[in-house]
Amino acid sequence: VSSSAAPSTAQSEALFERARKVTPGGVNSPVRAFRSVGGVPRFMASADGAYLTDADGTRYIDHIGSWGPMILGHNHPAIREAIVAAAQDGTSFGAPGWREVELAELVCQVTGAQKVRFVNSGTEATMSALRLARGFTGRKYTLKFRGNYHGHADALLVEAGSGLMTNAAELGAAAPSSAGVPDEYARLTLVSEYNDAGALDALMAERGHEIAAVIFEPVVGNAGVLLPTPAFLLALHRVREHGTLLIADEVMTGFRLSPSGATGRLGLTPDLSCWGKIIGGGLPVGAYGGRAEIMDYVSPEGPVYQAGTLSGNPLAMSAGLATLRALQADPGLYERLDTYTARLAEGLREAAQEAGVTVCINVIGSMLTVFFQAGPVKNYTEAARSDTAAFAVWFQGLLKRGVYWAPSQYESIFISGAHGETELQATLAAARDAFGEVRAA
Ligand code: PMP
Repeated sequence: VSSSAAPSTAQSEALFERARKVTPGGVNSPVRAFRSVGGVPRFMASADGAYLTDADGTRYIDHIGSWGPMILGHNHPAIREAIVAAAQDGTSFGAPGWREVELAELVCQVTGAQKVRFVNSGTEATMSALRLARGFTGRKYTLKFRGNYHGHADALLVEAGSGLMTNAAELGAAAPSSAGVPDEYARLTLVSEYNDAGALDALMAERGHEIAAVIFEPVVGNAGVLLPTPAFLLALHRVREHGTLLIADEVMTGFRLSPSGATGRLGLTPDLSCWGKIIGGGLPVGAYGGRAEIMDYVSPEGPVYQAGTLSGNPLAMSAGLATLRALQADPGLYERLDTYTARLAEGLREAAQEAGVTVCINVIGSMLTVFFQAGPVKNYTEAARSDTAAFAVWFQGLLKRGVYWAPSQYESIFISGAHGETELQATLAAARDAFGEVRAA
């Protein structure tokens, strides 16, 4: 781990060259391309426990966990066996099946939602929940927060986080939004600053009567990790006084920060919630749900249309069921994840300090971001002040020592139950050396 001789990347380079000819940027999701950190993206061949192995046979301690789903670690036997068993029963029916019923019952039981609808991604979940909120309230505006990312539906690509934030930093763009979204759509999405209770109250006082829903990340992962202040949480609750629905986007935080997500952990009760990632155990699943009175507006029960050829797919449901059941069977897991990640944060703080590198580490549960700045970092504007060049040096320092970190300053990492003492010590040793390289750069 302490060796700084970089392992060969010949196979990844060859695959990347082929990929770029047939796929934009050579990747099927932008942040994977390593644009903001440089170097060749590693093409992965297999994953097991806390480790990824790339096409050149190099093993990495994985800190991404497929951007959230792999809370139990990769290739978990219970999940693998459930998927194999489901495949033997047929891969898609185009008709309802028992696994959808069981997963819906389990999700309702764990989260407190009264009804849920399964879709195929987090994007579909948030897009559908917003349409539902508009249909239910008869209003057309929605409100989101700067730097929160809710997937790539048109109305939500306005001042968004994640890859858009990485992109904006790269291109020097004024606002992290997408081309191809007509102004007419974008104007229906109002934007406020995260953690600014006063701004939210003021906007709601002025426009609340025409706002169908406020959608938010209860803990932000997509500007790097941002924690909500108690005053902001109270202001979120107050939006209901205007007849506006509160939609918690728990795609990242659901089943991760507690069995009932970030909202359960923080004591928030939204009208609707959106899920993805862990709910599908590494297969493509999203879901939205909440109060039955609202959910009954969804087709075929109600007038808000939403459908999907592969929604409730038996393979995907089997992976989600196996994951949620394994989480239920191991109630101590969340505490172990919290402890591991808190120790990682502490070790990283010490390592940075010893190297004379200024960082601000935001951490909650098994989510963590090392911001290369003094902090505090409470919103998009503050996050965007980070030294992304220093982050890139640190990232490369980790990578060549076998530690795979999120390849952007503006992302969270995700710790899994497969991370143990060996991985913690190896990660900290690599981080110490990498901070030294940041200092020397
Ligand atoms: N909401 C949040 C909070 C997310 O983090 C993401 C993806 N990272 C999405 C929505 C979109 O999910 P998907 O990529 O599955 O469409």
